Formats: sequence, structure tokens, C-alpha cells
Amino acid sequence: MRILFKNVHAADPLQGLDCVTNIITENGVIAYIGSEEKPADRVIDGGGRLIAVPGLFDMHVHFRDPGQTQKEDIITGAAAAKAGGFTGVACMPNTKPPIDSPELVKYVFDKAEETGIRVIPYACVTKGMEGKELCDYEKLKKAGIVAISDDGRPVKNAELMRRAIEMTNQNGLIVTSHCEDLDIINGGIINRGEVSEKLGVRGMDRASEDSITAREITLAASCGARVHICHVSTYGSVDIIRAAKRDGIRVTCETAPHYFTYTDDKLLARDADYRMSPPLRTEKDRKAVEEALLDGTIDCIITDHAPHTAEDKSDFETAPNGVVGLETSLAVTLTRLYHTGKMSLAKLVEVMSVNPRKILGLPLAEIKVGSEADLCIFDPDLEWTVIPEKLHSRSKNSVFKGERLKGRNLYTVCRGKIVYELDPKGE
Ligand SMILES: [Zn+2]
Ligand SMILES: [Zn+2]
Repeated sequence: MRILFKNVHAADPLQGLDCVTNIITENGVIAYIGSEEKPADRVIDGGGRLIAVPGLFDMHVHFRDPGQTQKEDIITGAAAAKAGGFTGVACMPNTKPPIDSPELVKYVFDKAEETGIRVIPYACVTKGMEGKELCDYEKLKKAGIVAISDDGRPVKNAELMRRAIEMTNQNGLIVTSHCEDLDIINGGIINRGEVSEKLGVRGMDRASEDSITAREITLAASCGARVHICHVSTYGSVDIIRAAKRDGIRVTCETAPHYFTYTDDKLLARDADYRMSPPLRTEKDRKAVEEALLDGTIDCIITDHAPHTAEDKSDFETAPNGVVGLETSLAVTLTRLYHTGKMSLAKLVEVMSVNPRKILGLPLAEIKVGSEADLCIFDPDLEWTVIPEKLHSRSKNSVFKGERLKGRNLYTVCRGKIVYELDPKGE
């Protein structure tokens, strides 16, 4: 099957590509890039307006499979990813049971095969995510994992974490850390501050995040190893990471669109769909996160796609943390950062496609002749409203519900196949 993407604005900073051109894919690879219009089995006309970038990659999602497939499974999670323009995701191991053995890693890889995109499981730092005994990283690496994490249930024992960072590094893996001191959290459900006081609910003090961010960086520095900090949400963590990078410590980090878009004012509605961990914080934090993303302190945008059923989210105070995000990430980034002139297209590709793959040591998606055809083709100007019921994810707990966004993924191409296309009715 030969597909001609005609008159698309191709943007791939690694190839120095930023122009309107024709791209032909055939037999799974990019066969031609240039001005000629060659015959093809299918022609998609970009009208000089549609933008083609290397397929997006989200290095932090939760697909709840095995164990909680009423919230999401690998197939529905991948459907959400494809709709969002992602050709690859790395999913966190806090499933039931947690991914801590080669057998469970194989379960994810096997089920992912039919999705048409790359779904790569993380494995746990500690067996059963119990924070007691380290997993066998060598065996897990052989099973195909590229990173480990106890996301959702942080490792409390610092010495255990230090050994994990050191041993994963020796095995060519990386630890990604959910920085949260649960003793400081102490039952808190939203950011600790004016809003938590107004609502009369227990707050999550920012020190819970900052102290563990500092701890992980200190531990990584002590053994000269790499570490990756998950979902940065505070100005304090931003400052700590910026200083560490300046000092040459091998730290990378990520944030999610909700942290550079919203503040804890959203919680005044007492709607659990706005609750996640770490929580939405203040304008000072939001601004710091946005600045850090633009100046390179924050390396990538992730979604922390965390599906929960409407029933799970029905009670504001007792609902579990987490929001879905795969289907809105690109559109929110375009709306908030690209269309406002703050972020270039090249930078967007860097934080949503290049850097996450680099951090995990995965092959990059590239727009060049001979490369596997791995693309996200979007309309930067298409305006749409986020209607949760229309999302592909099995769960609808979107923090962007009702939001009017500008820019939308139209085609996701993975291994040369169109694995998703937006239907003409926009659904
Ligand atoms: Zn987390
Ligand atoms: Zn997470």
C-alpha cells in the first residue's frame, strides 16, 4: 500500500525539516519526501496546512491491565493513544498484580501486539510494589523492559531507592520516580493552601514533592547514575531540578498538560475529576512549570493518563487520584503553548516525541527516507470541544472536559499503517 501525504507541512527538527512537501509511505517505511507527486493507492491532501511530525510518545500512562480493566485495558488505552497522535506509550506497572516478573511483562507485550502501536511496560522497583525487596532487573531487562518505577506507591526507604538507581543504571535501565512523601501527604487530597482551607479538606503540602525530588537527585548524584523525575508540579521541584542540571547531575523530568494549564481554583467545584497526584497547585507553580518546559529544564510532556470510572470518581473526598489525558495532550499543548507563540513546532516535537524516546533509550521516530513510517498528522487550526463521552478511553475522567481546544490529530501512522483517522464528523 502506497500512501501519498500531499502538501503537508513536515516538521522534524532532527532532520532539519520544516517545509511543505509530499511524503510517500510504502511497505512500512517512508519511501519518498519531496516536491514530486507520484501515484499512490491513497492520497491524503494536507492543503499546505496539515502538519506532519514524528509519531508522539507518552512515557507515562496507566492502562490498568491486568486487574482493573473496568477502568481501561491495553486495547482501549491504545485506542486513546492513537486518537491522540501517539505511536508509542510506556505504561506504569501499578496494575493488579503489579508488573514485577518477566511473565507479566510478556502479558503486556503479547496483548499490545494487536494495538498497532508500541506499548512498553515499566516494571516495578520493588517486588509487588511493597517497597521491601528489589526486583530482578537483569531478568526484566531481558524480558524487554526499558525503565522501572514504583509510580503511585513511592519507595519510602532511601537506601533501597539508591540501590535501585545504581543497579538499574548498571543494567542500562532508568528509574522514574513519583516524588511524594506519604507521611507529609497524610491523607491530603488537593494542594495545601487557600483552596484546601476554603473547602475544609486536608491539603497535600508541596514539601511532599520537593523533598523527594531533592532526595532522588541526591541519590542519583551519589552513584553517578541517571534518574527521571515524574510529573513535576511545583516551583520548588523546578528550581531543584534546574540547579541539579546546572551541576551536571544526570536528571531528566516530565510534566503533564494540566500542570501548565490549570491551578487549584478548579477544585472549588468539588469535582473529583480535577483531583490527581501530585495535585493542581497555584499560579506561581503553573507558571514555573510552563517556563521550565520552555527553557529545557523539563524534558518532556507526558499525560499520566490515569483512567477511573465515573463511579470511582463520584465522591469528591474519597475518589482515587488521576485523570485521563492521551486524547487532549497534543491539542492542549497546541492551544496553550504553540498558538500563543510560546513554543515552536520544533520544541513541541522535542518534548512530545524525541526526548521521551531518548530518555528510555528507544529508537527515535524520524521523518526521513528509509525510516519506519511513524507519524502524527494534525490540523493545527481545527477547533473542537472536549466531550468526555466521545473519548476512546474506557474512562471519561478528563480534566479538560468542556474545554474548547485549537488543533487536533487527524491521522496516526505507525509502521506505515494508518492506525487511526479522525472520522469526518469529528468523532
Ligand atoms: Zn505518579
Ligand atoms: Zn502515574
